[in-house]
Amino acid sequence: LIPIKGTKLHLLLHSPVSILALLPSLQWEEIGEVDEDYAPIHTYQVCRVMEQNQNNWLHTNCILTEGAQRVFIELKFTLRDCNSLPGGVGTCKETFNMYYYETDGDRAMKESRYIKIDTIAADESFTELDLGDRVMKLNTEVRDLGPLTQKGVYLAFQDLGACIALVSVRVFYKRCPFLVKSLAEFPDTIPGSEASQLVEVVGRCVNNSLPLYEPPRMHCSTEGEWLVPIGKCVCQPGFEEINGSCQVCKVGFYRSLLESLAWIKCPPHSLARENGATACSCEEGYYKIDSDPPNMACTRPPSAPRNAISNVNETSVFLEWSVPMETGGRKDVRYNILCRQVSPDGRGLEECGPNVRFLPRRVGLSNTSVMVADLQSHTNYSFLLEAVNGVSELAKDHAKQYVSLNVTTNQAVSVVRKGVTGKSSISLSWAEPDRPNGIILEYEIKYFEKEQDSSYTIIKSKETEMVVDSLKPSSVYIFQVRARTSAGYGAFSRRFEFQTSPYCDERAQASIVAVAITLALVLLAVVAGFLLSGRRCGYSKAKQDPEEEKMHFHNGHIKFPGVRTYIDPLTYEDPNQAVHEFTQEIDVSFISIERIIGAGEFGEVCSGPLRLPGKREMQVAIKTLKVGYTEQQRRDFLWEASIMGQFNHPNIIRLEGVVTKSKPVMIITEYMENGSLDTFLKKNDGQFTVIQLVGMLRGIASGMRYLSDMGYVHRDLAARNILVNSNLVSKVSDFGLSRVLEDDPEAAYTTRGGKIPIRWTAPEAIAYRKFTSASDVWSYGIVMWEVMSYGERPYWEMSNQDVIKAVEESYRLPGPMDCPEALYHLMMDCWQRERSNRPKFDEIVCLLDKLIRNPSSLKKLVNSSHRYEFTNPSQTVGEWLDSIKMGRYTELFMEGGYSSLETVAQMTSE
Ligand code: AMP
Repeated sequence: LIPIKGTKLHLLLHSPVSILALLPSLQWEEIGEVDEDYAPIHTYQVCRVMEQNQNNWLHTNCILTEGAQRVFIELKFTLRDCNSLPGGVGTCKETFNMYYYETDGDRAMKESRYIKIDTIAADESFTELDLGDRVMKLNTEVRDLGPLTQKGVYLAFQDLGACIALVSVRVFYKRCPFLVKSLAEFPDTIPGSEASQLVEVVGRCVNNSLPLYEPPRMHCSTEGEWLVPIGKCVCQPGFEEINGSCQVCKVGFYRSLLESLAWIKCPPHSLARENGATACSCEEGYYKIDSDPPNMACTRPPSAPRNAISNVNETSVFLEWSVPMETGGRKDVRYNILCRQVSPDGRGLEECGPNVRFLPRRVGLSNTSVMVADLQSHTNYSFLLEAVNGVSELAKDHAKQYVSLNVTTNQAVSVVRKGVTGKSSISLSWAEPDRPNGIILEYEIKYFEKEQDSSYTIIKSKETEMVVDSLKPSSVYIFQVRARTSAGYGAFSRRFEFQTSPYCDERAQASIVAVAITLALVLLAVVAGFLLSGRRCGYSKAKQDPEEEKMHFHNGHIKFPGVRTYIDPLTYEDPNQAVHEFTQEIDVSFISIERIIGAGEFGEVCSGPLRLPGKREMQVAIKTLKVGYTEQQRRDFLWEASIMGQFNHPNIIRLEGVVTKSKPVMIITEYMENGSLDTFLKKNDGQFTVIQLVGMLRGIASGMRYLSDMGYVHRDLAARNILVNSNLVSKVSDFGLSRVLEDDPEAAYTTRGGKIPIRWTAPEAIAYRKFTSASDVWSYGIVMWEVMSYGERPYWEMSNQDVIKAVEESYRLPGPMDCPEALYHLMMDCWQRERSNRPKFDEIVCLLDKLIRNPSSLKKLVNSSHRYEFTNPSQTVGEWLDSIKMGRYTELFMEGGYSSLETVAQMTSE
């Protein structure tokens, strides 16, 4: 068969299976013709329209399928219009059938063993006139065939009495072509047999490259397209990617990490002597430690600290110094102190004892000062200060450099202790100084009220204890003690803080505790009563503002035990922190992507098994973030996960985890076999019992009750954002704040800016963005309506502006067909203008539970006279029809005698 002139065979991704030959047939004639441009064409024709009982077969030879599991057949043909045939209309047909027969080699080709692919009809049939005008009404039909499992296939065309010319038959399959991406090669791949199936292919890293984190993967779709790339290869250390291949590093350059992209020149004081270096080595006298990044220069130990000074205070010394002249090229300079004191025989120096305290510590100081306390009084000390850095340990032969300081301490009392304390007195005691400079004659005690050191009192004592009295109750005093010898006064001890007792005695305190406990119990009882009353079934219409109720939870004034509060990821300065806190990272190797199930705002939504170690395999939905995203898009994408990760409820879609450490970034949730509720209901129109529908509604209400208890306002509750699993359990999904509304095709811009899904949103939220759990209740009412009408669009084709206007004028959606009255009443309550009059979600759950327990309450259906709520009786029929964009029928209504809304309301379906 010759392709038609002017049509190009599009074989870019498609490779022809084999040359197709049609076998000679008795009834079908092989005819050479010319097309409308007089170009020769070759056709098979049959035209036995005048004879009864035609059964004319045309067979192909065996077509080898080369392993393809799905092949496509494109037919081009012309077909005669039966009506244009004189006389033969009774027997004439306008269709023919296409069959196939799969084989692994046998030639048995009985027609009865062929399987029908389809009946083929023409979009355009030709007539006598067309023949005269030489107009060629060529039809093109494509069918696909699969899953095929054997080596070859025969095709056959069966004519039952039509007038057909078969002009071309093209058989092909699609394949994902050989591809090199991110240094990984993916072989030419034959797609899977089912329409939405994805075949995962692991790529091979090109020469001198390695997988980064994990082997690269791609997914081959049935359309022959490569989708969802995961992971990548990068050049191994010592090589750099140049024009898609890995080239070796030159002398003086290195590349050490898979993550880094290009060669780097060796940093100062280091060299790479050969090609392909993965690291540079240090020059003599310079060093590097393992934790130093490869691009850091080699370094050496620091010089000694400078400008050391000391400041003696009683038996403490404060030492201070400046940073060394030479830090060795590092930032990790630390200081060590060596403390030595004159030995008891007064001749040499020995290490200070273990009682000497260094504040904050003796070695590894990062600041250039230290306090040395609890030294002996009146003693000579020598301190050596040393600077070290990260490479000091390695530089063993590097001579240590110190700065030294000599210090003499004073004679002082080191510790003052508190004894019995009264409301106006404190008794003190202290020990004699370790090394008094002669015989102690007396002690001086200095004290003052804390923070009032401008006036102090000094008293003297010959003993090492005394009672200080005439103090104020409940006050903090500072005490210091010093000793006097014949050599004079020593320094005061450091400051000690002690507090006097309060006025009230213990009995009084006990009674306060008792009163507090009593009050707490009363409060608990009130709170418990409030909780219980809140959970009772039935709802009163004038309750407090739902937001005020929420404030209790939020501000923690009354913290109900067991109720967690939702934390807005916006409150985190770093959004990654929120992701880290609320989600679990999943290693991508535990996930297999099998098929595409939907399209999200950020990329494909796929499904496949999740195999976590030690856990049962489960099906999951995998939302991917498409490549080339911006940082903002990544943040917005993961936002949903940070919200979802905070929830744990059977009617809220469960987050299994996220993949952020590799690309593409993914959000993994439980898999909901029946997809989104609106499409599911449309697909199964009229198929469920009322109890099944109420069961779904109950689930949604229960999920929403949980969200509102958590203080989370959904803002985009609609059937399209509810997912249904194989057990008909419905779960709330689609979280996010502003984002939800950005990606919802239903959301429209309002006059105040911001996108809002008008049909689902409460009037106060549209008018002044008052989004609360009560506005979610309004949306819930709309979802109820969607469910009871099997996915009908709320307010049908009315424009958003008309919906806003109608709702404003108190128009409400009519009860759906066959909707139980009790449910319609609940919907109408959800659509109360005054938001505090709307039921709360816990009341909705209670009511639905009651209806489910008592199915007879669902028997009474919304009757037809009720089905339209005209709350504006002064409206004329014409105005009403105009308001729902049906004004063109006004005349017909009038003619039919429906001149008032009352008569319209009584209209029956007949
Ligand atoms: P979304 O971006 O969340 O609106 O998801 C886009 C589409 O993917 C939805 O409309 C569903 O059809 C499908 N989808 C998303 N999550 C799941 C899931 N957990 N289970 C099944 N299908 C899902």
